[in-house]
Amino acid sequence: MRFASNMAQIIDGNRIANEVRCEVRLQLEKFVGAGNRVPHLTAIIVGEDPASQTYVEKKIIACKEVGISSETKALPITTTQEELLKLIDELNNDDKVNGLLVQLPLPAGIDERIICNAVSAAKDVDGFNELNIGRLALDMKGIVPATPLGVKTLLERYNINTFGRNAVVIGRSKNVSLPIAILLHSDGRNATKGMDATVTICHRYTPPKELTRVCRQADIIVVAVGKPGLITKDMVKPGACIIDVGISRIPDEATGKFKLVGDVEFDEVREVAGHITPVPGGVGPMTVAMLMKNTLNAAKSQAGCADK
Ligand code: NAD
Repeated sequence: MRFASNMAQIIDGNRIANEVRCEVRLQLEKFVGAGNRVPHLTAIIVGEDPASQTYVEKKIIACKEVGISSETKALPITTTQEELLKLIDELNNDDKVNGLLVQLPLPAGIDERIICNAVSAAKDVDGFNELNIGRLALDMKGIVPATPLGVKTLLERYNINTFGRNAVVIGRSKNVSLPIAILLHSDGRNATKGMDATVTICHRYTPPKELTRVCRQADIIVVAVGKPGLITKDMVKPGACIIDVGISRIPDEATGKFKLVGDVEFDEVREVAGHITPVPGGVGPMTVAMLMKNTLNAAKSQAGCADK
């Protein structure tokens, strides 16, 4: 058995998210102090999914903390795609709105890809529009989705070396895993400042044995699946960095309530890994912090004073 001091260093997402929010607040004060309007984020939510409502509330609270003005447009579940597109069009053309997001998932009958593509690329602070994903894929500057940007920021601020290292991304979703894989493998010299890793992507059709083989060779494992217990100790190379993006709500035998868990068997993997993110308190808080950063940057770009 390893001593506690040999356990993986916990990557504290709450601490780094707080750092990012403080930086955004200071930059925002400077931006507004220079005579620019207070940045504004509008969030659209359709229906009454409790998890979505919680996510949107967290975003609105974070806006208040950093000084971004915000508003939620809550639409009934009966909203049609055409009605939603009409509202997006109005908000795209409203100069007071700098950032615009539509909380996913959307009710059946509304095509998420059509909706994400309808949000103006300049205001698309979720980075889900085809132009922003395309720009990222082509190493061009654009708006990078918040969760992938949060993963990159955690790796950077904990000085995890990615240059020429082996990374595995588990999951291939277009909004989460694909942008993470793009950021990890792309060239650090380009506009999106990639991380120069050698990346393998695994997904639901990767045979379990193959998943284990690939993970065992990885210096960095980023898992975004939503399957508790998917990554176990025997799959992890000693000293590897484990970023657990997954979130599942499962019954807690100890309290009889529900608790949030990731995709990693945290207690056992912690004994072999070098660094590990907890769930909650790892990637989750970073997502909201990076959304704040994206909203400020969108307002700056629209005002013609974007950061390099
Ligand atoms: P998704 O359902 O779109 O994608 C899941 C992916 O997992 C798919 O690409 C699928 O191929 C892959 N997969 C399924 N079973 C697998 C298996 N046995 N082995 C390997 N791969 C497998 O989900 P998503 O939107 O990409 O989200 C993934 C997870 O991340 C979810 O748990 C979600 O709640 C969480 N999430 C967390 C944050 C955050 O801020 N921490 C943000 C977004 C999503």
